[in-house]
Amino acid sequence: MARLTDPLTPEAPPGGGWTALIDDIVAGRWTNPETGQIARVPYESIVFADSLDGREADLVRPLGLGSRYAVVADAATYDAMGGRVARALRPLGPVAAVVLDRPHADMAGVADLREKLAGFDAVVAVGSGTINDLCKYVTGLDGRRYCVFATAASMNGYTSTTASMTLESGLKVSLASHAPAGFFVDLAVSAAAPRHLAAAGFGDCLVRSVAQIDWWMSHRLLGSVYSRVPYIIQDDDERELNRRAAALGRGDVAAVGYLVRVLTLCGLGVSFTGTSNHGSMGEHQVSHYIDCFAGPRHPGSLHGQQVGVAALTLARLQQRMLAEDRPPVVRPTRIDAADMARRMGGPAAATCLDLFRRKAFDAAGADAFNARLEALWPALRRELAAFTIPVDAMTRLLADAGGPTTAAGLGVPPDFYREAVLHCREMRDRFSFLDIAADAGLLEAFVAGEG
Ligand SMILES: [Zn+2]
Repeated sequence: MARLTDPLTPEAPPGGGWTALIDDIVAGRWTNPETGQIARVPYESIVFADSLDGREADLVRPLGLGSRYAVVADAATYDAMGGRVARALRPLGPVAAVVLDRPHADMAGVADLREKLAGFDAVVAVGSGTINDLCKYVTGLDGRRYCVFATAASMNGYTSTTASMTLESGLKVSLASHAPAGFFVDLAVSAAAPRHLAAAGFGDCLVRSVAQIDWWMSHRLLGSVYSRVPYIIQDDDERELNRRAAALGRGDVAAVGYLVRVLTLCGLGVSFTGTSNHGSMGEHQVSHYIDCFAGPRHPGSLHGQQVGVAALTLARLQQRMLAEDRPPVVRPTRIDAADMARRMGGPAAATCLDLFRRKAFDAAGADAFNARLEALWPALRRELAAFTIPVDAMTRLLADAGGPTTAAGLGVPPDFYREAVLHCREMRDRFSFLDIAADAGLLEAFVAGEG
């Protein structure tokens, strides 16, 4: 079980400063314990400090991004930090502010920003989720480099090499892109951001235990590739962060510092494994389903808020199933293509069907899986207990951080939330406890108690 009750040590920031360990990884001084090789990651500069006021030009100059600067923000992030960054960069060359009006990370948003950034060779994003995804994706298309000043600790996508985008079909996907050359966090700015943003970032971190349980289970039962490295690098910081959940809800700068560390290390984990599995399994599928198919039923909530609530659902499901002495028994997967098309629309359903079929059990597959589950169940229960945080403790942490803990708290109608939990597995080929529960005929009864 995770240690939640140790005394609050060490003092913040950790020995070596806010970017201890991160500095070693970025500078190529850290050896991957699984491969014995020096780790290589595609970043030049990652800097967090209690304040970066006055240091902006010194951080950006060595990146050599170009000579004509565009500082990209939305109205809120321009006020929070964008205006200050634009003024501070003037010694480096002409600087234009590109302030986007309620931007969306979709293909129309990409086309719009591509046009606005024509003629600028140096792109500096100031914002969080949408601003970073748009700048990352647009610069990745033509090989321009960019850097980002974070304005909120709301998600772990800053250091990932993928961009989260909504396609014409309505499907939200992770598209291959590139890493920012520089990632800069003024902790005082992030701590002053609206509290629900840090609570969302905390939700994205809280998924660790349920994602690790799904991923390890998939590795043991189906032989999927698994890596310990993403967990090794963030384990200590996750404990420090969880001890500060309530302080995070109060906008405490040190708590935000640990949150940014965990978000950053989680993103760096993708560089080592090439996948996001360590922090994105069944619980992220629930969120994807909500984002893609809620339509007018839900005006939208932040990614981290959704995955925080969904992590509690997955924890309840996993912990209930793992409490049983006997393993569940799966049957061949039932695929209802017509129902998927009705719920998702034709083009999205076609894409999802393809992914769903990759992990669906036929009769022989179900028999083989049951045999393996029967043989491994006692060992698997023991192994997964080491990754588990009891669901009551997870719920308390998320509430302390200021995040919603129920579908109603998210503003998602409970009946649609139940649909999302029941059907989200159709969207991805990653195998989770949702798949076992569904194929064992247990998921419908489980979701009746959710939402
Ligand atoms: Zn996430």
